[in-house]
Amino acid sequence: MGMGEVYLVGAGPGDPGLITVKGAECLKRADVVVYDHLANEMLLQLAPESCEMTYVGKRESKHTLQQDEINKLLVRLAREGKTVVRLKGGDPFVFGRGGEEALALAEERIPFEVVPGVTAGAAVPAYAGIPVTHRGLSSSVVLVTGHEDPTKEAASVNWRDLARIDTIAIYMGRGNIAAIVDSLVEAGRDANTPAAAITWGTTGSQRTVTGDLSNIVERCSKEGIKAPAIIIVGDVVTLREKLSWFERKPLFGKRIMVTRNRSQAKRTRAELERYGAEVIEFPTIRILPGADY
Ligand code: SAH
Repeated sequence: MGMGEVYLVGAGPGDPGLITVKGAECLKRADVVVYDHLANEMLLQLAPESCEMTYVGKRESKHTLQQDEINKLLVRLAREGKTVVRLKGGDPFVFGRGGEEALALAEERIPFEVVPGVTAGAAVPAYAGIPVTHRGLSSSVVLVTGHEDPTKEAASVNWRDLARIDTIAIYMGRGNIAAIVDSLVEAGRDANTPAAAITWGTTGSQRTVTGDLSNIVERCSKEGIKAPAIIIVGDVVTLREKLSWFERKPLFGKRIMVTRNRSQAKRTRAELERYGAEVIEFPTIRILPGADY
């Protein structure tokens, strides 16, 4: 059997429309899809019916498979001659451990390609009406993980230096938000700096809270903001007041199930999405050619 190949594909942050054309093409050719918690399952419908689907989880610390097991799985599937799509939330190389998977494949001489995706750090604030850079307000932005507790001695994120960047986009920061805010203020960032936290961005479950460094922690707790969330620190957050476009759509926050035949559902779906609804296709009928008489 010939050697297969692995495509490390970015699924985008949630809205299934935010996968790239190239990513969608890979899914259409897949023999097997290996996907995570944050990759929208709706995208699996792009794959052929015969395609095998393997969920490998990764919900914060609750991993269904350990990283080295995922690496081994990808190697094994490719060796079986399969076209493998490794579908990861956002961009595979931005806090997605895609680099580790690519290294494992390279080491075993498995052919692979990387299909970049729309990363949550830019797309999620965009859906909340927050541009991460803006003339006159922000000319720099940093993507940083908040997964590490900044009070730990071995922390590798240098919040002292980062505090000076105009816009700080923090991934995986919900759990440590209080310590992160303290570190930024201690490093000299003004406690009045605007801040926002956005959970399940780009989906019908998107929720945004805003405030400033002095009150964002309390507001997140009060509003029950949980992971996955992107935290944005910087003056750009103020633009949301004028630019919040997604949350203002008439059907925003509504999840609508379309039960029509799959080929007919397309138009209904496009129309509902245009008004901001999250559409779940669940065909309850299937129309087939009639028998010959
Ligand atoms: N590779 C992904 C990031 C994976 S790390 C990317 O490029 O976007 C997982 C973190 O990403 C989450 O803890 C959260 O901080 C952020 N994230 C991903 N999707 C998100 C979403 N829809 N809304 C808010 N945050 C999201």
